[in-house]
Amino acid sequence: MEKKIAVIRGDCSSPEFVKETIRVLDKIAQKHGHTFVYEEVAMGGDAIDRYGDPLPEAELQKCLNSDSVLLGSVGGPKWDTLPGDKRPEKGLLRLRAGMGLYSNARPARIWPQLAPASPLRPDIAANGIDFIIIRELTGGVYFGEHSTIHNGTEEVATDIMEYSVHEIERIGRIGFETARKRRKKLTSVDKANVLDTSRLWRKVMHELAEEYPDVEYEDMLVDNCAMQIVKNPAQFDVIVTENMFGDILSDEASMITGSIGMIPSSSLGDTTVGVYEPIHGSAPDIAGQNIVNPMACILSAAMMLRYSFDMSEEADEIERAVGAVLDQGFRTADNQSEGCTVLGTKEITDRILEEI
Ligand code: NAD
Repeated sequence: MEKKIAVIRGDCSSPEFVKETIRVLDKIAQKHGHTFVYEEVAMGGDAIDRYGDPLPEAELQKCLNSDSVLLGSVGGPKWDTLPGDKRPEKGLLRLRAGMGLYSNARPARIWPQLAPASPLRPDIAANGIDFIIIRELTGGVYFGEHSTIHNGTEEVATDIMEYSVHEIERIGRIGFETARKRRKKLTSVDKANVLDTSRLWRKVMHELAEEYPDVEYEDMLVDNCAMQIVKNPAQFDVIVTENMFGDILSDEASMITGSIGMIPSSSLGDTTVGVYEPIHGSAPDIAGQNIVNPMACILSAAMMLRYSFDMSEEADEIERAVGAVLDQGFRTADNQSEGCTVLGTKEITDRILEEI
């Protein structure tokens, strides 16, 4: 197969781990007879420096004309003082909106080799953590109207939270379909005891549940879910939720796995063209030292092969190779523990390449 991949190298440490990820993709291409053509796209601080804009229209078009997007992380102290619409993060929001990406998936999986790094009690972590959070990405309070007015006495701020039936239905379906491909359990998270948007969410989810009798379905209030994620994470298979709840819960879920440098993510809409990126930021504090962990980005590339290119075998191969390198006791500095060998960004990728 030939696939065109838009590559956003990102800022600070990001170009270091994106470069290593491309080496892994090239090895997979070589081994399986595929051709991956890379289209360089400027976004974030890099695009601000070059064009004065965090995502110029022409760069967005390159993403839209590709089969998928591999994204590093954008942002850093250099651009922190710019006004809101000129900041690197604005590029991210524009990319999601411009590509119609309404669904974000983040697997929360504990690698047994890294279990000691989990902040959970060992007996809880030992039960296993392997679930995925599907977060609605383009609706809810983050995309509603925001305003701050002065009512004559004091300032009053308002943020509108809005969801329509079709927005809930399309993300709900992704939740059910994802559960079908896994252990067939779906937890829908809302705040239906307080919010109208959540009551509509629940109604639509219940209607959908009738179409998926093979999937075990449950509702859970968001406050309870936040507790259950640390109390008994093994109970979850797939969680589906709205934008803000998903933002918060997915950060909590990634923390319990012990290492931010290991967690990939995917964002998809109605087509197979998605954006694949590590969940961590651009790690400015360690830029240029060849110590940033490339695994989350490499695992994001594996998700791209599986979900956008239908290359499950190749994706499995990358994940197996990462596991094998961890089994051999090799770590990057962020994951080091007693008895392990710490390698640099390039050197740990060399090991992964040897395993493919
Ligand atoms: P961060 O994730 O970049 O870093 C937090 C800490 O974790 C740092 O100490 C960093 O060195 C470490 N870390 C992160 N990833 C690592 C890895 N792969 N290997 C080893 N250590 C790793 O978060 P931050 O410091 O809050 O943000 C830095 C910049 O990244 C900010 O400008 C922020 O806006 C941006 N950011 C971008 C994205 C994105 O592009 N999607 C996401 C989050 C943050």
